[in-house]
Amino acid sequence: MRMIDVIIKKRGGKPLTQEEFNFVAQGAAKGTVPDYQLSAFLMACFLNPLSDKETALFTKAMAHSGGRLDFSSTKLPKVDKHSTGGVGDGISMALAPLVACGGVAVPMMSGRGLGHTGGTLDKLESMKNFEVRVPVKLIYRQIQKLNVCMFGQTKDLAPADKKLYSLRDATGTVESRPLIVASILSKKYAEGVDSLLMDVKYGSGAFMQKLEDSRKLARALVSTAKLLGLKCRALITYMDQPLGRAIGNANEMRQAIQILKGDKTLAPDFYELLIEEAANMLVISGKVKDIKKARALMEEKIENGEAAAKLREMVKWQGGDPKSVDDPEGYFKDAKLKLEIKAEASGYVQHIDAKTAGMAGVLLGAGRNTMEDVIDYGAGIWLSKKSGDAVKKGDVIATLYASDKRRLEDGAALFKQALKTGKKKPAAYKIIKEVIK
Ligand code: URA
Repeated sequence: MRMIDVIIKKRGGKPLTQEEFNFVAQGAAKGTVPDYQLSAFLMACFLNPLSDKETALFTKAMAHSGGRLDFSSTKLPKVDKHSTGGVGDGISMALAPLVACGGVAVPMMSGRGLGHTGGTLDKLESMKNFEVRVPVKLIYRQIQKLNVCMFGQTKDLAPADKKLYSLRDATGTVESRPLIVASILSKKYAEGVDSLLMDVKYGSGAFMQKLEDSRKLARALVSTAKLLGLKCRALITYMDQPLGRAIGNANEMRQAIQILKGDKTLAPDFYELLIEEAANMLVISGKVKDIKKARALMEEKIENGEAAAKLREMVKWQGGDPKSVDDPEGYFKDAKLKLEIKAEASGYVQHIDAKTAGMAGVLLGAGRNTMEDVIDYGAGIWLSKKSGDAVKKGDVIATLYASDKRRLEDGAALFKQALKTGKKKPAAYKIIKEVIK
């Protein structure tokens, strides 16, 4: 087979076969097809979008471009979640241990943050000594003993996607739905789970800004996952404003810990999404039939302390100190400086734009503009008030954390642009918009 023939076929809009996709994926993974041909192939796919069938074939080819984790020694259903990313979306750190308490295995593979979108690995690493580079053998052992492990992508999983994703970034081919679907699902398939919950966000801080686009992506993800033999459903969730109260790595970890320990009122939107995601994961995995029972079970696991105990064990297995769950002080890398943003007049917080607030977090040092940037784990924002909250003149709306004065000032200037206050109480918004099955 010659790469030029595959490119010309796709350029002409003809459907490709499994063998042809395998050839491309192997070529990308092994470096036997040069970047200029892979780039031309990606542009051909962008201009002549892959059909559903081709998307599934391409996903399979990419998923098989490296190894696949094998949890067959674990009899429990294996389930994971993938979020398309957002601002303040530190759900995973609470979700993985919680769902594991429901009697399923949760091998959760996560990534790092870029731009205004945070990444679970960075958040976990804000806890002193927490290790996310877990060797495969230890992932298997931890899943057997604990039902849960949170780790970064190993080099061997879906290497074709790593290559192709970086080329898409440089060739204007990121925004192709079939390529996005194949990229996301190839990694999740390689992870070896049998059920997958997708959290597809919409709004300014999301990958897809428009609800309709997120709906289309969610449908494509669910149907392709099913073609691959995975049980899957998607929640479409709100990301026009930050989720919860915390933005930034250590802030988000602290929030997740407190909520897992039973603080339901700290961030009601976060708690609602946590329970809904956890319950849906139990239902798609087949462990619990009824969603209401699944929700009740997940709430019970928080209230009776099992979820926090599971987190303690996970922290211990992965190098951290379990005492950090009981008293987080001293276990996180803190920022040196803080600045309070106060209400200039009495009224309501009407809106906090997720993307702008997320970018303010990056300026403070909580995120990266390029993958080479170094993160300040303690930097970030704590939202004492959220949209719909009444404020009196002088009330603290948010506290910003950074390690140098310039960053604090730049972050504050941008955060003020994200914040809208006024006399009128804004309409409430729904966190979970739809479920796509
Ligand atoms: N996330 C991915 O992993 N891949 C994409 O193509 C887009 C978002």
